[in-house]
Amino acid sequence: MTIYNFSAGPAVLPKAVLEKAQADMLDYRSSGMSVLELSHRSNEFDAIIKEAEALLRELMAIPDNYKVLFLQGGASTQFTMIPLNLAQGKKAYYHVAGSWGKKAYTEALKLAKSIPMQPELLASSEEHKFSLIPLYDSSAIDPEAAYVHITTNNTIEGTAIYDLPDTNGVPIVADMSSNILAVRYQVDQFGMIYAGAQKNIGPAGVTVVIIREDLLNKEPVLSSMLDYSIQAKAESLYNTPPVYSIYIAKLVFEWIKELGGLDQMEVVNREKAGLLYTYIEQSPFYNNPIKNPRERSIANIPFTTPNEELDKKFVKEAEAKGFKNIKGHRSVGGMRASIYNAFPKEGVVALIDFMKEFESHNINK
Ligand SMILES: *Cc1c(COP(=O)(O)O)cnc(C)c1O
Repeated sequence: MTIYNFSAGPAVLPKAVLEKAQADMLDYRSSGMSVLELSHRSNEFDAIIKEAEALLRELMAIPDNYKVLFLQGGASTQFTMIPLNLAQGKKAYYHVAGSWGKKAYTEALKLAKSIPMQPELLASSEEHKFSLIPLYDSSAIDPEAAYVHITTNNTIEGTAIYDLPDTNGVPIVADMSSNILAVRYQVDQFGMIYAGAQKNIGPAGVTVVIIREDLLNKEPVLSSMLDYSIQAKAESLYNTPPVYSIYIAKLVFEWIKELGGLDQMEVVNREKAGLLYTYIEQSPFYNNPIKNPRERSIANIPFTTPNEELDKKFVKEAEAKGFKNIKGHRSVGGMRASIYNAFPKEGVVALIDFMKEFESHNINK
């Protein structure tokens, strides 16, 4: 049976990447050592991390005045590092369109009790169960504020921001964990971008940070591990980095480049998502909670059947047929198809076939 892994993260990796990693496993480039055993100060690893950075710069067209960091602690640690490094006693706005954005805001509120900063809720769609991207009046943003935090793709709820909002000149800090490298964003429109790797980049354990140089601390005053400027100066080697995760990320970047780069990735992703949305749209049986097509995620697609009983039945039967991890997040229920870069189009086609079959057996019952 073919297994299709719809996990929201850690998520499916390209088979070609896993095969390459397998071939390299015991003896990396005739070093007689596995990548898992390489010193992070070795020439071999130095080449790996430099290539990883160069490839990411090329794929995303990252301008020279941005630093690329490979950090640890997941995207969740960024919820703390961002205010610590960037708030500088000023206002920091949070645009909350999903559970992760809410967490980022909540962390800022907590930190504001111990560091000088002023977190402001710019907009929230929580009262709509985060089924839409909330609007706001950009002229209300204090132009002296430190940053506006947004989430480009709401992994749990299935919405996304493709056209960046007007922030009255204030730098945008974006959590791009679930759609980095899935669609094209212009990096120079951001002050900072960050992403946990386990959705669209590689294995868990490494977090990518892309930060404009002028936002770095001039004088390090923070705990070193949490200071972007120290991490940047040390070229992500202040302490032992997640060597293997960075190596796999490098292989994924190579894989994307070989397939034609980010723009080609986006074409394929839009095609995959389009198939599923079009099917759900015309079906009297399935429902997608995101009503505005322009706000629909191409990475995470939630859907439901007419009732919870049928949702449970769907998940059970789907699992048995090899469609793994398709259950929706516990906070929203239903189903969620996470179809990141490495998720094959055949898997989407197979899912739709299964959905049709399930619909015909269960409609009006
Ligand atoms: C998964 C996810 C996170 C949390 O990532 P961790 O690496 O587990 O901390 C944060 N934001 C978004 C948008 C996510 O999808």
